[in-house]
Amino acid sequence: MPIVSKFRKRRIRLAAFLSVCGAAIVIGQAGDIRRVFGQEGKTANSETARDPADQNRSASQDKTRAPEDSRASVDPVADQDPDETKIKEPEFRRKSKPQLKRALTSIEFKVTQNADTEPAFRNRYWNNKKDGLYRCVVCGLSLFSSETKYKSGTGWPSFWAPIEEDHVGYKTDYFLFYPRTEVHCKRCSAHLGHVFDDGPTDTTGKRFCMNSAAMKFYESGKENDFDE
Ligand SMILES: [Zn+2]
Repeated sequence: MPIVSKFRKRRIRLAAFLSVCGAAIVIGQAGDIRRVFGQEGKTANSETARDPADQNRSASQDKTRAPEDSRASVDPVADQDPDETKIKEPEFRRKSKPQLKRALTSIEFKVTQNADTEPAFRNRYWNNKKDGLYRCVVCGLSLFSSETKYKSGTGWPSFWAPIEEDHVGYKTDYFLFYPRTEVHCKRCSAHLGHVFDDGPTDTTGKRFCMNSAAMKFYESGKENDFDE
C-alpha cells in the first residue's frame, strides 16, 4: 500500500472520529440547552402557576370582602341619614304680643298667653280620632302624636306622653288653690294645659290634659304649612 494512500485513510478515520465527537458535543449541548429551556420553562410555568394561585387567593379575598362592601353600600340603616327620620320643625320666630293677638284667635291667645282653660267638650280636638301630629299653635313645635291620644272622658284632648320629653316644660301652679303641674311649650312658653297622674296604667300613667286652642292638628299624609 502506498504511503500516501495509507495516510489518507488515517485522515478519513480521524475526520470520522472528529465528526462523531462533534456530533456528541452538539447533542450534549442540545441536551444542556433543552435542560436550560426546560428549567426556564418550568420556572416560567411555576410563575404562571403561582399567578393564578395568587389570583384565586386574591379573588377569594375579594369574595370575602365583597359581601361586606356590598352590605355596607345597601344597608338601609347605615345609609340612612338620622335626621331624615326626625320630625321636621319649623324655624322659631318669636312674636311680640301685638303680633300674637293678630295671629291667634281670641281663645288661642287667652289660653296660650294667659293660661286660660277652654270649656270641656266645646273645643276642636277633644274627640278628634284622626292620625296626625299636634303642634304648638304659636310656634309650630311638635308636641303630641295621635298615637298617644286616648279617650279620657274629660272633654279635653288627652295624651299619655309628649312626642319628645324636651318639647314641653313644667311648672307648678296654684290657680285652683291646690298644686297642679302646668305644661307649656318648651320653645315659646305657650301654656298648653296640665298633667296628672291618673293616666292609663298600661302606659306612662300620665294624663296630659291639653287645651285644643293651644295646638294645631296636622293630619298624616297631608301637606303641612307651618306659616299659616
Ligand atoms: Zn310653642
